Amino acid sequence: ESVEVQIEDQEFQLEPDNELRFEVENKNETVVLELKTGLAEIFGTELVKGKSYTFYFGAKIAVFTWQGCSLKLRGKKGISYISKETPMMFYLNCHASLEQLRVKSEKEKTRGPVTMVVGPTDVGKSTLCRILLNYSARMNALGRRPIYVDLDPGQGQISVPGTIGAVMVERPAEVEESFSQAAPLVYHYGHTNMSINSTLYNTLISRMAEVIHQRMDENPRINCSGLIINTCGWVKGKGYQHLTHIALAFEVDVILVLDQERLYNELVRDMPVFVKVVLLPKSGGVVERSNKFRLEGREARIREFFYGTPRNVLHPHTCEVRFSDIKVYRIGAPPIPNTLMPLDMQKTDLETKLEPVTPGPNMMHHVLALSFSTMVEEDVVRTSVAGFVCVTNVDTSRQMLTLLSPQPKPLPETIYLMSDVQFMDNNA
Ligand code: ATP
Repeated sequence: ESVEVQIEDQEFQLEPDNELRFEVENKNETVVLELKTGLAEIFGTELVKGKSYTFYFGAKIAVFTWQGCSLKLRGKKGISYISKETPMMFYLNCHASLEQLRVKSEKEKTRGPVTMVVGPTDVGKSTLCRILLNYSARMNALGRRPIYVDLDPGQGQISVPGTIGAVMVERPAEVEESFSQAAPLVYHYGHTNMSINSTLYNTLISRMAEVIHQRMDENPRINCSGLIINTCGWVKGKGYQHLTHIALAFEVDVILVLDQERLYNELVRDMPVFVKVVLLPKSGGVVERSNKFRLEGREARIREFFYGTPRNVLHPHTCEVRFSDIKVYRIGAPPIPNTLMPLDMQKTDLETKLEPVTPGPNMMHHVLALSFSTMVEEDVVRTSVAGFVCVTNVDTSRQMLTLLSPQPKPLPETIYLMSDVQFMDNNA
């Protein structure tokens, strides 16, 4: 029998402008945090005094205080430490400048600040986006409704990996959760790496920008609140070209560059003069993530889509469909040697071509996106998706697929888009 070692509670006193940093490093560890006195926030969300916040494996947390506070940690095994050096003042100033632009656009009935956050991997891009969104949502008297746009298909923060998405932010994120996911706008890309199909990626970016601009035009409140766009950490060569394409498509006004002077200088050189490019320091607290951790993060994201979180458990369903009853496609045809390429066809046409997929073992474990288009005659590639299922079994003798679905409802008769992204459902 193993003996549970009782870990003592730890108390921390934080001076103004300090932050307490800790990680949950072990699979079965949970860490509980409580604010005892003063005021504190986690990535822009205020903590409620006396409330217990629970964190699970993989969480990397900074509790920041502008005014000073005392905190209690329960269950933390490894190290946690207080840092006096944080870039929070810079981030708050960014927020203040964006807020000025919002006030101005509210008066002039023009579009509010479209902000793009860029930088190499592990510099805290997602965290900065979260802080800026939370700060604007906290000023609820002003009724800000910024849209969060996540263009990194590797993480799939808004939906699942292999997608890009956008969601309107009405209130600060819950401390332990991501932003509320009501009616997100999601596009299926089908890969976690942008280099696999750049043409498709750029096509989706342009389309998404078009749709979001349209929504802004229709709603003055969203319009003056602007956008916060999170990008992927690939900033060299073609990755840089993607960034400039995003800037152009979304008509960005502000680019926040985290940590990299070279990227900052390139953008200053290449962007039109009215685009404000700002170099910001990264936080020393941002934790580098190994490839293994990223992979696990992706899997956890998909598991969360189907099974929820410990705080909000979901019960997915499995259902069977006949091979002949489901229309599955993938976007992008395999390359054809130049000599065989029809004269009127471009390589880029192939990359955005809708290709039927014959159901079979090749679909095992793949995520399928449910398109809002129901017919191939529609513009399926540039249409957003309604949800996802995952293939958990392929029975060739009975010609049946087993699908994991978040909803008990019969699967809609629509177009299913097969993703490269796979998910092993070991709960089933
Ligand atoms: P990627 O390039 O993969 O998109 P990123 O630049 O967006 O990464 P984040 O996801 O923002 O980086 O941060 C990486 C990790 O560091 C996250 O788990 C985040 O919670 C953690 N983190 C960010 N800031 C701090 C901090 N000040 N103290 C401790 N951990 C932090």
